[in-house]
Amino acid sequence: MPMIRGIERKCLEMIKQSAKDMHPREFLALLSTGNRKDVISELVLIPRMMYGKRQATFNIYMVPFDRRIVGTVHSHPSGIPKPSEGDMHTFMKYGKVHIIIGYPYEDDSWRAYDYNGKEIDMEVIE
Ligand SMILES: [Zn+2]
Repeated sequence: MPMIRGIERKCLEMIKQSAKDMHPREFLALLSTGNRKDVISELVLIPRMMYGKRQATFNIYMVPFDRRIVGTVHSHPSGIPKPSEGDMHTFMKYGKVHIIIGYPYEDDSWRAYDYNGKEIDMEVIE
Protein backbone atom coordinates (compact mmCIF):
# COMPACT_ATOMS: atom_id res chain seq x y z
CA MET A 1 0.00 0.00 0.00
CA PRO A 2 1.32 3.48 -0.86
CA MET A 3 2.20 5.97 1.87
CA ILE A 4 -0.44 8.55 2.66
CA ARG A 5 1.13 11.95 2.02
CA GLY A 6 -1.75 14.23 2.84
CA ILE A 7 -5.38 15.12 3.23
CA GLU A 8 -7.56 17.20 0.93
CA ARG A 9 -8.58 20.60 2.30
CA LYS A 10 -12.28 19.91 1.74
CA CYS A 11 -12.02 16.67 3.70
CA LEU A 12 -10.30 18.46 6.59
CA GLU A 13 -13.05 21.10 6.57
CA MET A 14 -15.64 18.33 6.78
CA ILE A 15 -13.83 16.87 9.80
CA LYS A 16 -13.72 20.26 11.53
CA GLN A 17 -17.41 20.89 10.89
CA SER A 18 -18.51 17.39 11.93
CA ALA A 19 -16.52 17.60 15.18
CA LYS A 20 -18.17 20.97 15.92
CA ASP A 21 -21.62 19.55 15.16
CA MET A 22 -21.08 16.60 17.52
CA HIS A 23 -19.56 18.62 20.37
CA PRO A 24 -19.56 17.87 23.33
CA ARG A 25 -19.91 14.28 22.10
CA GLU A 26 -17.10 12.60 20.17
CA PHE A 27 -17.16 12.45 16.41
CA LEU A 28 -15.86 9.31 14.74
CA ALA A 29 -15.48 8.33 11.08
CA LEU A 30 -13.23 6.33 8.78
CA LEU A 31 -10.72 7.91 6.40
CA SER A 32 -10.74 6.94 2.74
CA THR A 33 -8.53 7.83 -0.18
CA GLY A 34 -11.52 7.69 -2.54
CA ASN A 35 -10.27 7.89 -6.09
CA ARG A 36 -6.85 9.16 -5.08
CA LYS A 37 -4.09 6.77 -4.13
CA ASP A 38 -2.07 8.61 -1.52
CA VAL A 39 -4.32 11.41 -0.30
CA ILE A 40 -7.21 11.17 2.15
CA SER A 41 -10.17 12.63 0.32
CA GLU A 42 -13.34 11.12 1.82
CA LEU A 43 -14.95 10.38 5.15
CA VAL A 44 -16.86 7.16 5.61
CA LEU A 45 -19.49 7.54 8.29
CA ILE A 46 -20.17 4.46 10.32
CA PRO A 47 -23.49 3.43 11.80
CA ARG A 48 -24.23 4.36 15.40
CA MET A 49 -24.59 0.70 16.32
CA MET A 50 -20.86 0.34 15.94
CA TYR A 51 -20.06 2.89 18.62
CA GLY A 52 -18.98 1.94 22.11
CA LYS A 53 -21.15 3.15 24.97
CA ARG A 54 -18.72 5.45 26.70
CA GLN A 55 -16.45 6.70 23.96
CA ALA A 56 -16.19 6.77 20.23
CA THR A 57 -14.57 3.41 19.74
CA PHE A 58 -16.06 1.02 17.24
CA ASN A 59 -16.23 -2.63 16.37
CA ILE A 60 -13.59 -3.16 13.68
CA TYR A 61 -15.22 -6.40 12.59
CA MET A 62 -18.18 -4.42 11.32
CA VAL A 63 -16.10 -2.17 9.07
CA PRO A 64 -16.75 -2.96 5.40
CA PHE A 65 -13.75 -4.37 3.59
CA ASP A 66 -12.56 -1.59 1.35
CA ARG A 67 -8.89 -1.07 0.56
CA ARG A 68 -9.45 2.66 0.13
CA ILE A 69 -10.18 2.98 3.85
CA VAL A 70 -6.84 3.79 5.45
CA GLY A 71 -7.68 4.71 9.04
CA THR A 72 -9.86 6.62 11.44
CA VAL A 73 -10.61 10.15 12.61
CA HIS A 74 -12.18 11.12 15.91
CA SER A 75 -12.55 14.17 18.08
CA HIS A 76 -11.45 14.93 21.61
CA PRO A 77 -13.92 17.38 23.13
CA SER A 78 -11.42 17.80 26.00
CA GLY A 79 -9.19 19.68 23.56
CA ILE A 80 -6.07 17.55 23.78
CA PRO A 81 -5.41 15.74 20.48
CA LYS A 82 -3.30 12.94 22.02
CA PRO A 83 -4.24 9.26 21.72
CA SER A 84 -5.70 7.64 24.84
CA GLU A 85 -4.93 4.06 25.81
CA GLY A 86 -8.18 2.97 24.16
CA ASP A 87 -7.22 4.88 21.01
CA MET A 88 -3.88 3.07 20.92
CA HIS A 89 -5.64 -0.30 20.92
CA THR A 90 -7.78 0.76 17.97
CA PHE A 91 -4.77 2.22 16.10
CA MET A 92 -2.80 -1.00 16.41
CA LYS A 93 -5.67 -3.19 15.28
CA TYR A 94 -6.92 -1.23 12.35
CA GLY A 95 -5.62 1.15 9.70
CA LYS A 96 -2.38 3.07 9.28
CA VAL A 97 -3.37 6.73 9.59
CA HIS A 98 -5.35 8.10 12.51
CA ILE A 99 -6.39 11.69 12.98
CA ILE A 100 -7.42 13.18 16.30
CA ILE A 101 -8.94 16.65 16.33
CA GLY A 102 -9.32 18.49 19.62
CA TYR A 103 -11.64 21.30 20.65
CA PRO A 104 -12.00 24.02 19.23
CA TYR A 105 -11.56 21.97 16.04
CA GLU A 106 -9.53 24.40 13.99
CA ASP A 107 -6.57 24.07 11.61
CA ASP A 108 -4.06 23.87 14.45
CA SER A 109 -6.04 21.51 16.70
CA TRP A 110 -5.55 18.22 14.88
CA ARG A 111 -2.71 15.69 14.70
CA ALA A 112 -2.10 12.55 12.63
CA TYR A 113 -0.64 9.33 14.04
CA ASP A 114 0.54 6.02 12.66
CA TYR A 115 -0.59 2.59 13.95
CA ASN A 116 1.97 2.89 16.74
CA GLY A 117 0.67 6.22 17.98
CA LYS A 118 3.69 8.06 16.59
CA GLU A 119 2.86 11.50 15.25
CA ILE A 120 3.22 11.76 11.47
CA ASP A 121 3.35 14.67 9.05
CA MET A 122 0.25 15.16 6.97
CA GLU A 123 0.19 17.75 4.22
CA VAL A 124 -3.05 19.65 3.64
CA ILE A 125 -3.64 19.63 -0.10
CA GLU A 126 -5.54 22.70 -1.26
ZN1 LIG B 1 -9.46 9.38 21.55
